[in-house]
Amino acid sequence: MRTDLVVIGAGPAGLAAALAASARGVRVALVDAAAQTGGQFYRQPAAGLGAGRPEALHHQWRTWERLRDGLAAGPVRVLTEHHVWCVERTSDGFTVHALLGPEQEEPVEVHAHAVLLATGGYEHVLPFPGWTLPGVVTAGGAQAMLKGGLVVPGHRAVVAGSGPLLLPVATGLAAAGVEVAALVESTDPGRLARHAPALAGKLPEGAGHAAGLLRHRVPVLTRHTVVRAHGDDRLTGVTVAALDADGRVRPGTARHLPCDTLAVGHGMLPHTDLAETLGCRLDGLTVAVDTEQRTDVPGVWAAGEATGIGGAALALAEGHIAGCSAAAHLYGTAPDPAPAALKARAKLRRSAAALDAACAPPVHWPEHLTDDTVVCRCEEVTAGSVREALDLGAGDERTVKLLTRAGMGWCQGRMCGTAIAGLAGRAPTPAKRPFARPVPLGVLARQHPQEGQS
Ligand SMILES: Cc1cc2nc3c(=O)[nH]c(=O)nc-3n(C[C@H](O)[C@H](O)[C@H](O)COP(=O)(O)OP(=O)(O)OC[C@H]3O[C@@H](n4cnc5c(N)ncnc54)[C@H](O)[C@@H]3O)c2cc1C
Repeated sequence: MRTDLVVIGAGPAGLAAALAASARGVRVALVDAAAQTGGQFYRQPAAGLGAGRPEALHHQWRTWERLRDGLAAGPVRVLTEHHVWCVERTSDGFTVHALLGPEQEEPVEVHAHAVLLATGGYEHVLPFPGWTLPGVVTAGGAQAMLKGGLVVPGHRAVVAGSGPLLLPVATGLAAAGVEVAALVESTDPGRLARHAPALAGKLPEGAGHAAGLLRHRVPVLTRHTVVRAHGDDRLTGVTVAALDADGRVRPGTARHLPCDTLAVGHGMLPHTDLAETLGCRLDGLTVAVDTEQRTDVPGVWAAGEATGIGGAALALAEGHIAGCSAAAHLYGTAPDPAPAALKARAKLRRSAAALDAACAPPVHWPEHLTDDTVVCRCEEVTAGSVREALDLGAGDERTVKLLTRAGMGWCQGRMCGTAIAGLAGRAPTPAKRPFARPVPLGVLARQHPQEGQS
């Protein structure tokens, strides 16, 4: 298939980008690995579930209706269940390589003059003793079960970690009938107060969640952390403890909370694999973009969480600006983004930076890790093995990987990379994965048939 612009990712950023570019006459293909559009924020219940009131599980449903109806009414070509594993630069643009359907074995290519990366982010979870027990899920995973599968992960839950995602997860679970034993947030509220001016715009949202927590009588423990999850073959409870001003556990504050579910998360990390393969410059762990959301590779734009974690409203604004810019460059005109989107982006970036500064996970989290705590779940590498590798002189994630296999499994270090960097006392670095998805060897062989092969 050949088109003008491929937008990869149909979350808020990709939807806004596709609609903006299409409204300006660009032929757009919107590609997503999921079975439905919407991304993480507007995750829809599986069609077969026959959900009567899906809006009950969502915020900003009107915005979703506008995006959904705009897509249905317009000419954007929507390609769901397309798992993009690589984007290749060609002489006349780009080739997007994807694998089809849940099996991800049948290859397909989309050729385009320009590419817009709206691949979002994924959850960041730091390890702690017991975190691999059944019953421990990620905060976003619990939310995804609720929004996408209309199921709850258990009867009595603790929601824990750091960052704003914990609030909708706790209120969402409570509204769905789960007894939320506690919301355990490691952030010190004083840090949020110090960023009050930048966070002023987030107050109504925060107040809504606070009212939800009050309504469902959810106890909130700030400056607390989960130090251990308990259970033999599944979760039966967690130990939580208070943190001091330096982020260390305060002795004598540990207490046990019985629960069958722990929904835990420590913020989000951006998906940058496709951008990295294309050679786009990163700024830390995020894709670097200019004021028009252009990367430094001509013909490649990026928007949403891939360029920095900031929430759905920021993703929408960035997507719109990127779509307008891509259209303008394809047609040789001047970009014409809505002034409201530019204003919203500036304001929301300020609040995202403030939240990021205030909501960092506790600095001394590696101290809670016993030597038998699994750090790399795919290869079952423990904290003890990682420490041994560090004692042998491994100074970074890559050397630890070579010595222990940590990060060599199915997730390619997406889950354990930051934990290993933390154990090594270093800031995480981009992983430089050549493929964004596992690719069957047969598919690769068909890409480059050898001469003389039948
Ligand atoms: C699990 C989870 C749950 C969340 N729940 C909430 C919530 O309840 N409330 C809240 O305020 N925020 C939530 N967030 C944060 C929220 O998702 C974002 O703020 C917002 O959705 C960002 O929009 P986006 O368009 O940048 O990315 P996303 O919405 O993440 O969309 C990215 C899209 O790109 C697709 N994609 C990525 N890589 C590929 C690839 N290689 N090939 C094909 N498709 C690809 C994904 O399938 C996805 O649909 C959640 C995040 C996560 C990860």
